[in-house]
Amino acid sequence: MVEPTGIIFNVQSFSIHDGPGIRDVIFFKGCSLRCQWCSNPESQNAGPELSHNRQRCLGVAGCGSCVASCPYGVLEPSPENLPHVRRDLCHGCGTCARSCPAQALKLMGTVVDVEALCTRVHQNDSFYAHSEGGVTLSGGEPLLQPLFAAALLERLGREGLHRAMETAGHVPWESMAGVCPHLDLLIYDLKHPDSETHRRWTGQGNERILDNLHRVCAMFPHLPVLLRTPVIPGVNDSEEVIERVTELACSLPSVERYELLPYHRFGEAKYIQLDRDYPYKGPSSIDKERVAALQRIADRVEQEHC
Ligand code: SF4
Ligand code: SF4
Repeated sequence: MVEPTGIIFNVQSFSIHDGPGIRDVIFFKGCSLRCQWCSNPESQNAGPELSHNRQRCLGVAGCGSCVASCPYGVLEPSPENLPHVRRDLCHGCGTCARSCPAQALKLMGTVVDVEALCTRVHQNDSFYAHSEGGVTLSGGEPLLQPLFAAALLERLGREGLHRAMETAGHVPWESMAGVCPHLDLLIYDLKHPDSETHRRWTGQGNERILDNLHRVCAMFPHLPVLLRTPVIPGVNDSEEVIERVTELACSLPSVERYELLPYHRFGEAKYIQLDRDYPYKGPSSIDKERVAALQRIADRVEQEHC
């Protein structure tokens, strides 16, 4: 049988924010939402794409290795003496990135198989064991590659690792149903309880997301769910919104905790490296006290389920 392969753009070791203990987080390519505040824009497109760091670049006049190396003639000098990527013509082969002496060009997106990823994550076995950590699939949306995600999780489970996955839930039910049996924790994002507002800020309504959440809790009652909302100023930072999601979470016994994540702008530089504008035009930060006050509302989930 041919083993499925997947496309990922990063493996981050020693993470402590994406499930219990110390974890390796595997970031999948491709996403079905376009959240305006997305901090991983390199995750959104399904295929590989080039990221160019202007600060590192030596300039085409002084270097130009990338322009010379591209077998398709896709790169050309810009008036600022930087390589301009004609993205609509790029094949994502990575030749230019490999030729760059300054590591200014990076190809975001690598095809991997289960064996290679398992070898990589087992390098940190001692950290998982001591911290009761494991591996988390993230993205992007891991459930856009359901066969690969299921094969990877199944193998990691056989090898005794704790397995978590972050999802935005905007996927066909069959993808969710095929992967959940191989999970120890499901981390489920809900950006807004109102579908039209959800569509305005993410490009999609939330009907499928809510439907999948209800179905997961009904079909996999023993799979713990951590519900999460990134709190974005002017989008969902109101008591009314958090109250509504808290009510929903309290009605679902599998939801063990409802957690709020404060908005940050760390991903903004990545948009420039991808030749894109940062879509979210709201305030640059959120008041930590405001998030803490909203979290106190959300903490009702734990109190009601204890
Ligand atoms: S990734 Fe390949 S096709 Fe795209 S610009 Fe670089 S060398 Fe050219
Ligand atoms: S090879 Fe790297 S350093 Fe040289 S011009 Fe291209 S991006 Fe800049």
